[in-house]
Amino acid sequence: MRDLSAFRRIVIKIGSATLVDAKTGELRTKWLDSLAADIKGLTTNKTEILVVSSGAISLGRYRINLPSGSLKLEENQAAAAVGQIALAQAWTSSLAKHDLIAGQILLTRADTEERRRYLNARATISTLLGFDAIPIINENDTIATAEIRYGDNDRLAARVATMISADCLVLLSDIDGLYTAPPGKNPDAIHIPVVERLTPQIEAMAGNAGTENARGGMTTKIEAAKIATAAGTTMVIANGRDLHPLQNILDGGKCTWFTARSTPVTARKRWISGQLQIGGQIVVDAGAIGALKKGKSLLPAGIRSVSGSFKRGDLVSICGPDSEEIARGLTAYDREDAVKIAGRNSREIEAILGYSGRTELIHRDDLVMNDDQVDTADHLVTN
Ligand code: GLU
Repeated sequence: MRDLSAFRRIVIKIGSATLVDAKTGELRTKWLDSLAADIKGLTTNKTEILVVSSGAISLGRYRINLPSGSLKLEENQAAAAVGQIALAQAWTSSLAKHDLIAGQILLTRADTEERRRYLNARATISTLLGFDAIPIINENDTIATAEIRYGDNDRLAARVATMISADCLVLLSDIDGLYTAPPGKNPDAIHIPVVERLTPQIEAMAGNAGTENARGGMTTKIEAAKIATAAGTTMVIANGRDLHPLQNILDGGKCTWFTARSTPVTARKRWISGQLQIGGQIVVDAGAIGALKKGKSLLPAGIRSVSGSFKRGDLVSICGPDSEEIARGLTAYDREDAVKIAGRNSREIEAILGYSGRTELIHRDDLVMNDDQVDTADHLVTN
């Protein structure tokens, strides 16, 4: 699938070099407005859009007159603190011109890697999307120190894409895709329009094409492609410098597609099927079995009993009244809370637990029926 309009949920990563004028340090407002217009076009077509926007450090460093060249960690953090405000304002105003609402999310690496924080980040992002807001995501550069940071938004964007099961990730950069060699240094370099498999040969082509303002070169983009495609997310690298960069992709402009061999839901289900550690057992009634067979989520109302020891996000086994396993899935509640809400209506969850949790105990996308045809041969998937 190489048509942007055919995807359901797209993460768009904006490189600093496309957003900030390298000479003046000014934001390229006209360009951002044109991108916002493209985003509006896609959302009108019912595609959900998330943005991972770089540019905080680039914008901030000019405002506090830091010299060009590489900065110390504390200087980067101070620049990001100043620049992130400007960045958020710019996004809010450009999107508002198209009646779109921006919501800022700042993440550190642990937010995408530690199970609990990952689940929280995912829930907040999904809620924002449910309100038709556009999440504008960046690394929390003012907090993240060397050991706990991504440092580049290419891999952060890939993790975000897999975390929220996006089916496409677009990296808008100052280069229009992958070449057989870095094109700046090698005039004979040939552009590669499609990468079906990430072979060592492809990795060797990446070289290092970073600019002063952008952290990630082609190497981090290939790393991002590995994370994304393994989880069923197709990735595309395109030149974002011209106006209407997404429309350019839609119009068949030059870019490189990294195709995923499955979809995010299939990849997630395959990952679930490949898990060996089961934390507990949920016995459900006949009504719940019927609902699950029709493709519905597991609600607390259909639960008869809960056993074992598990935390939110752990894998549990779902059994019928005769204790025979019918499905497995990732639970949205810890065992203690699951026990309390078992057999109860989802509307009562807040009154029982004191907080408004998810309606489902196990969401459909987090659940695999035992008779689902899921190929478990390749379960080395980044979830
Ligand atoms: N988070 C950094 C910023 O906003 C950008 C990192 C990158 O360029 O990949 O300045």
